[in-house]
This record gives sequence, C-alpha cells and structure tokens, in this order.
Amino acid sequence: MGQQFQRASLAPDGFAVDGVTVEGARVQIRLRSLQSFGHCPDCGRRSRRIQSRYLRRPADLPLGGRQVELIVIARRFWCDAVLCGRRIFCERFEIGVLSPYGRRTGRLETIVHHLGLALGGRPAAAFALRLMMPVSNDTLLRVVRRRSIQTGGAELTVIGIDDFAFRRGQTYGTIVCDLERRRPVTLLPDRALDTSRAWLAERPSIVTVARDRGGGYGEAIAKALPHAEQVADRWRLLENSSRAFLDAVGKSMRQIRRVIGSSVIDPKLLTCAERLQYEGYLRRQETNEAILKMSKQGAAIRQIVRETGHSRKLVRDVLRDRRTDVFRTRPVRWIAGRPG
Ligand SMILES: [Zn+2]
Repeated sequence: MGQQFQRASLAPDGFAVDGVTVEGARVQIRLRSLQSFGHCPDCGRRSRRIQSRYLRRPADLPLGGRQVELIVIARRFWCDAVLCGRRIFCERFEIGVLSPYGRRTGRLETIVHHLGLALGGRPAAAFALRLMMPVSNDTLLRVVRRRSIQTGGAELTVIGIDDFAFRRGQTYGTIVCDLERRRPVTLLPDRALDTSRAWLAERPSIVTVARDRGGGYGEAIAKALPHAEQVADRWRLLENSSRAFLDAVGKSMRQIRRVIGSSVIDPKLLTCAERLQYEGYLRRQETNEAILKMSKQGAAIRQIVRETGHSRKLVRDVLRDRRTDVFRTRPVRWIAGRPG
C-alpha cells in the first residue's frame, strides 16, 4: 500500500521514460535505452562510441483509453573491431521488447496476434480499432502468419486442422495447429483440398490429425498422409454428443410433454404473445362448435354462411373437419437454444 505510480512503469523492459505527452486521444512516451553500449551484429563486439542518434516510433499498448506511440531514441554505434567488415551498426533492443524493424512493441504484437487468431482478419481489425490499437487487416494476418512460422524447428506429430475466417462469412483459409505445443503452425490461403494436401504431404512426421466431421480435410489427410490417424477433437466430440442428445429429446418431445402434464394449458402461465394466440385459438374453437351445431340441426351451408357471416370456405372447411387446430405451447427452450 502507499506505493506511488511511477512513470518508469510505462516503459517496456530496458527503457527509461524521458517524458510523456498527452494530446487528445493520443499519448506519446519518449524513451531511451538504459544500456550504455551496443553489440555489433556481425562480430558481436561491444561498442560505446556513438556515431549518431535517430528516432523510432513503435506503437504500444493503449493507456487510459488512449492510443500510445513510443518515441524511442535509438543510437548508431561505431564498430572498432579491426577485422569486422562493418563500421557502423544500429542499436538493437531485446527481440521480445522491440524487434529490429518492428513497428509495434512485443507486448502489443502479442495482443494483436491473439486477436487475429480468435477473430480472423477483418473482424479483428475492427475490434482492435475500438481497443485503441489500430492495425490493418493485412497486418493482423501478417502477424499471425509470422508467429506461426516460428515453431522452433520442432517436428510436428499431432496437429489439428480447421477453417479460419480471413473475412467471416466470405473468405476462409485453413489453420493448422500443433496440438502438442498448443500453437498455430500455419495459415493456408484457402480451404482447397490440394492446398492442404500439398502442405501435409511435406510433413510425413505427422501421425495424428484432429479435424471436423466434414469430408474435405479427411480426404486431403488420407491422400497426403495415409499412415496418419484421423481423430475428432474434444470440442467436436462434445458438440456431436450434445447434438445427438438434443435430437433424441426433440423426437420424443410429445411424449415427454404428456408425461410431465404440460399439455394442460394454464393461461396464467402463458407469455403475453402466447395468451393472444391462445385467445385466438379459443375463438376458433367457438366458431367451429357453433357451425357444427347448426349443421347438426339440419342447416345448409348457405344458411350457415348467411347467419354467422363467416365465409363459405371457412364453413365448408369446418364441416369437412379441415379446421381442427391445436394450440401449441412454446417449443422447449433448450431445443431452441442448441448450437447451430
Ligand atoms: Zn563488428
């Protein structure tokens, strides 16, 4: 308790804050590296001899509902190693914090990556804008693809394959995930059989593939990796079994309703709309009974039409038993709410 907010806590690791400017919906944070030297990327030697300074302006996580731009003072150093072919090099920061040509900090890019994976290209871009971290659709896809490629050279053995929405409802690709390491491996540009087949065929180390029940990927897997086992993942199993259960219940609904006695209608328990429907139903029953009664007393159709004012068709339908209707209580909620 009692700990004060410190400006330095705004900066990513390894940086000090020189100043903060708030301008409308934007915050600019000026930063410099805490390190007094740089490492030459060619020979690895340390240098403290600064040649010049320049500014980098990566985007960072939003702050208090404002978009954040960092202004980083980066340095160019001289490399003094005699045998090194490089004379000047640019300061590099930790890859996870800010990569050499990165336009976003590592922590922002992680969020962008997750958004891209969860929502797909265009919806994720729209959502990111509302979160005050504008990224384009193309950037999102690039980030997902780039991070997917960094699998660390590990061999794939168990993967999952599924559709991925570049643009929901319109453009779909294919996402492949490494289920052992729980990370996406690649995004393929479409859902075509040949595309996934070609990609899979180059990876014979895969022994198990989880996929949906549709035939598309199954065929590609069977052709590219005939030895691989195809399985349904846990989500599919749950989804399939719950659907089967609801179907079975739906088919027996009439019997179930009879057993629990819900075929007896209590107007007090009906919703407003249902009560209107129920009143209509009672009115129709009344009409039907009146018409049938007159007919039983020997009245002809024409006479009934004249006396009751109902149409000829209606009267005829009632007498031919075509107008018996049933009042349906609302369908059981959990059937209406089942997954689509
Ligand atoms: Zn060097």
